[in-house]
Amino acid sequence: MSFFGRRPKRSPTPTGSLSRQNSLTEGDAANAKPLYLCSPFADAALVNGNFKTIVMLPKYVDVMEWVAVNIHDFYTNLNEFYGCIAECCTQSSCPTMSAGSSLNYLWTTPERKQVSLSAPTYIDSVMSSVQNLLEDESVFPTKSGQEFHKESFPVTVKHIYRQFLRIFAHIYHAHFPQILHLRAEPHFNSLFAHFLAFGREYQLLDEKDIRGDPNAPVGVGLLWERWKSSGKLEKGAGEA
Ligand SMILES: [Zn+2]
Repeated sequence: MSFFGRRPKRSPTPTGSLSRQNSLTEGDAANAKPLYLCSPFADAALVNGNFKTIVMLPKYVDVMEWVAVNIHDFYTNLNEFYGCIAECCTQSSCPTMSAGSSLNYLWTTPERKQVSLSAPTYIDSVMSSVQNLLEDESVFPTKSGQEFHKESFPVTVKHIYRQFLRIFAHIYHAHFPQILHLRAEPHFNSLFAHFLAFGREYQLLDEKDIRGDPNAPVGVGLLWERWKSSGKLEKGAGEA
């Protein structure tokens, strides 16, 4: 069970005054620090302290089972958040799967071709392919006696993790004003901090993916650094 499951209240006017109040002129916008990296939004959370404890493997639970349960929860919660802002993520507002002014994620087709998709098409493709995987008993077995595939399961969950990270990165980059307008930033930050702490604990995160290129850093990478140094994600070296 997840404590993130509470659905944020939906606002009657999703693109209301908050985003306009904080809007900057074109020239400023390119250089300005994104809102999600500013106080108090960057540190808003449901949980004070760090996430190390809740990601630890419970006693007597198989690690693959634990990873599967958590992937399922991240999928459900991320899907709900995206559902709340989806009407603002359209072919015209988000023609590419962008996570920064010079960072666009490409979709890999079954023929291994890299193509540019609009963000809503990209995200729908991820969500429906992950839903299919979650319902596939040969990948995510739910019945007793069935085992997880030792070689392919870790590869599959790493792939899912990378795609979820991209969705977080797009929402932070393109839709944080809507998250603020829903007053959902403590929920969303807590979900993302949980996701990062879990990914780190079970080696599901590719650090290069979070940080991006030195020339094109990923915004959520800066948030990750901030949370790491404040001890939100794990116990600091000096702590007991
Ligand atoms: Zn979008």
